[in-house]
Amino acid sequence: MSRPQQITVLGATGSIGLSTLDVIARHPTRYQVFALSGFTRLSELLALCVRHTPRFAVVPQASAARTLQDDLRAAGLSTRVLVGEDGLCQVASDPEVDAVMAAIVGAAGLRPTLAAVEAGKKILLANKEALVMSGALFMQAVRKSGSVLLPIDSEHNAIFQCMPQDFARGLGAVGVRRILLTASGGPFRQTPMAELAHVTPDQACAHPNWSMGRKISVDSASMMNKGLELIEACWLFDARPSQVEVVIHPQSVIHSLVDYIDGSVLAQLGNPDMRTPIANALAWPERIDSGVAPLDLFAIARLDFQAPDEERFPCLRLARQAAEAGNSAPAMLNAANEVAVAAFLDGRVRYPEIASIIEEVLNLEPVVVVEDLEAVFTADAKARVLAGQWLSRHGR
Ligand code: NAD
Ligand code: MG
Repeated sequence: MSRPQQITVLGATGSIGLSTLDVIARHPTRYQVFALSGFTRLSELLALCVRHTPRFAVVPQASAARTLQDDLRAAGLSTRVLVGEDGLCQVASDPEVDAVMAAIVGAAGLRPTLAAVEAGKKILLANKEALVMSGALFMQAVRKSGSVLLPIDSEHNAIFQCMPQDFARGLGAVGVRRILLTASGGPFRQTPMAELAHVTPDQACAHPNWSMGRKISVDSASMMNKGLELIEACWLFDARPSQVEVVIHPQSVIHSLVDYIDGSVLAQLGNPDMRTPIANALAWPERIDSGVAPLDLFAIARLDFQAPDEERFPCLRLARQAAEAGNSAPAMLNAANEVAVAAFLDGRVRYPEIASIIEEVLNLEPVVVVEDLEAVFTADAKARVLAGQWLSRHGR
């Protein structure tokens, strides 16, 4: 039998990271953990290292690295601890690595994910913000290195599974008319509009169907997550924003659909558990057990669909505008959203102000052409400054 595939998990202590390790542990002869990274929950990272014995672990600071290195030694492990973005890029591009799970949240994942792309790795892309920020440059880098890019986002993994067979061989989305991107509508789909000014971070994070990290949970409540996913879908599937329609489907059983010119509509269904798309991408084009229970259609009984209400979900409208504008607009949208969501989670802004902050940033800063990564980070930094100015002007 061939050697196990070496997997780096960036963002191992997060929700996607833990689900990935759960799937990997079910197939010890097929996969081996090469590296794990964590950012805050470092005692959990230590426990993950003990369980999965990686060659490397990556933490943000030198002081944390020393502590973790001592703890690993005391546990009898030879795992080497690396530090910061350089450490992340190193374990993402190491010649021995076969696949990289990109599961850091937000813009912080961009450089390490691109390092994996440039090294020609198989990329399991959960970190949608990286692709949203750098779209054209990211896809150019994928084509140049011949890296295989597999979506982990459940919707995009569903679309990938419903695409023509030749799509993955670079032959394009032949015969595809539209992509139907499903959304649960989150916890505030039916909350009276007047109450939205008073919802708390914990209410926003109480997603009806999925258990996720806090940033993406707030994005799901505001539907910015769907807006980011719209932009993500355009890059992954070479679609125009007008070809991507958002469909509210509260049960989260259909993970997305592809509408073909002959009238066929293909959908992928499954229980809402991220181990399905993770197992699909890890083993692609083969199939492996993910630990997810079989779908019980009789228990589900019905599937509902609604059009999204952009008055209730202004972030969706803002994201569509940024998708249409292209260039620096998606990076600005993403950065303003990251600042606004962090402030909401800290209790400094009210939920409806998330959209106000993003809208002001997009209105103040003109869209510029993006030709290199420098321009992406400049747009990101400008948006963070403008969002910060909104916060100080409002005394937050
Ligand atoms: P999470 O908050 O649970 O985990 C985030 C991980 O990133 C943690 O390991 C954390 O230590 C690390 N991290 C945070 N900030 C960092 C920084 N500045 N530098 C380095 N590492 C840092 O988030 P999650 O829910 O696992 O989501 C991860 C990514 O996957 C996000 O981009 C999210 O949009 C995407 N995603 C998540 C889900 C889900 O079900 N959770 C579904 C689809 C897509
Ligand atoms: Mg998703």
